[in-house]
Amino acid sequence: MTTLQIHNPATGALVAELPADDAVSVAAKAAAARAVLPAWGAVPMADKLAMIQRFRAGLVAEMDLLASTLTQEVGKPISQARNELNGLLPRIDFFLEQAEGSVRDQHVFDDGQMHEQISHIPLGVVVNISAWNYPYFVGCNVIVPALLTGNAVLYKPSEHSTLTGLHITRLLHAAGVPQDAMQCLVGAGEVGSALLAQKIDGVFFTGSHATGVRIANAVAGKLVKLQLELGGKDPTYVRADADPKTAAESLADGAMYNTGQSCCSVERIYVHERLHDAFVAHFLATVASFQQGDTLDPATYIGAITRAAQLDVLDAQVADALAKGAQLRCGGKRLPGPGNHYAPTVFTEVNHTMELMREESFGPIIGIQKVSDDAEALRLMNDTRYGLTAGVFTRDEAVARELLAQVHAGSVYWNCCDRVSPRLPWSGHGDSGVGLTLSTQGIQTFTRPKAWHLRQP
Ligand code: NAD
Repeated sequence: MTTLQIHNPATGALVAELPADDAVSVAAKAAAARAVLPAWGAVPMADKLAMIQRFRAGLVAEMDLLASTLTQEVGKPISQARNELNGLLPRIDFFLEQAEGSVRDQHVFDDGQMHEQISHIPLGVVVNISAWNYPYFVGCNVIVPALLTGNAVLYKPSEHSTLTGLHITRLLHAAGVPQDAMQCLVGAGEVGSALLAQKIDGVFFTGSHATGVRIANAVAGKLVKLQLELGGKDPTYVRADADPKTAAESLADGAMYNTGQSCCSVERIYVHERLHDAFVAHFLATVASFQQGDTLDPATYIGAITRAAQLDVLDAQVADALAKGAQLRCGGKRLPGPGNHYAPTVFTEVNHTMELMREESFGPIIGIQKVSDDAEALRLMNDTRYGLTAGVFTRDEAVARELLAQVHAGSVYWNCCDRVSPRLPWSGHGDSGVGLTLSTQGIQTFTRPKAWHLRQP
């Protein structure tokens, strides 16, 4: 039997060794998911809502265990693991409040003779292949609305957050969701790949652009719904009229929170030349205040780099930036083990010939580029193949709205960053993905519309 070993990226210690799925077990789980669909679809919405409410209560009751598991397997500082769990609760509340109304039948026309109606029916068996960086968020953005709308879910958590995926699955079963309607698959890419070979009705993926393209190719011939939530190279522009201290403190957090391993981390900063030096000084002071080290210490802010291979990406971006004339203001190197640790790194005098300003870093590293006006900032913000989020710091709301309207991104921010709301759709433009989660549209996305044309005899 194949097994999956889970190591703590902060210490290198072996945390667990689990039996992994293989092609045979994946096929059996997919068949069981299909078989349960009629029974699961017949469960009234009120009962499903009660199950998700109990799931929520389970998360609260087990918060300490769940947070420490997340910290151990992902290397996320314990306070940020707790923040993720606490942040999940309002998302679940949103789904609980909005699910029923989002998929209620709509009666859109009636002239006494002809009646027109839209109903929302479940897709069927949906696959969720997920990332590790916010496993509760990205997992539950799919699992909760997919279940509430009557789908069976085949969930493959990342191999770097499998214990968390198993906790989510266990708590859903304990809350009353049938075993076959919510199944967890253990393993890495090959298990995801085996899953895509099954008879399925939708694929909801969160992860890197490269894997997203592989998945799109793998399912192209199936003609099933495909959503891809991918990476980004998210820019923020600090205008001359912004407060440099407030902007620097917010953006240092936006760049380094979760050790820079957020899809919507701030990855590029453009600062007006008049403000540049003051902004950089405040930014460096904020970064210097970030505590790095023991991930179980509640004061720790910078945790581990979850995937060891990412250390090479960070080293390569640092070497490339230095070779092309960037000025290293702090960090710039990995720290001695055990575990995968990288010093928070800030560069100035950067430009778009550098990988640091073009490709997702996914680590505690940032480039700050000086610009001379709004037009230059806008041109640079849009000089990317990605389009997840973008922001502007300014006192002038009208200018912010004008700039943000022209930025190619799924989410735009004025005087804030690295923020997700359950009430708003989460989506990427360009190579940041297709489809969306969250908002009422992110509930409807797990259904297909059925159009009713009903003529009285
Ligand atoms: P990844 O692409 O390495 O892996 C994602 C998932 O795909 C894992 O579960 C993995 O096992 C699986 N997988 C790998 N190869 C596969 C294959 N051939 N077939 C099927 N499944 C396969 O990404 P990651 O390292 O887990 O996550 C980091 C990336 O995710 C970053 O780029 C980040 O920006 C992105 N992300 C995006 C969002 C968003 O909402 N847009 C949210 C979180 C993370």
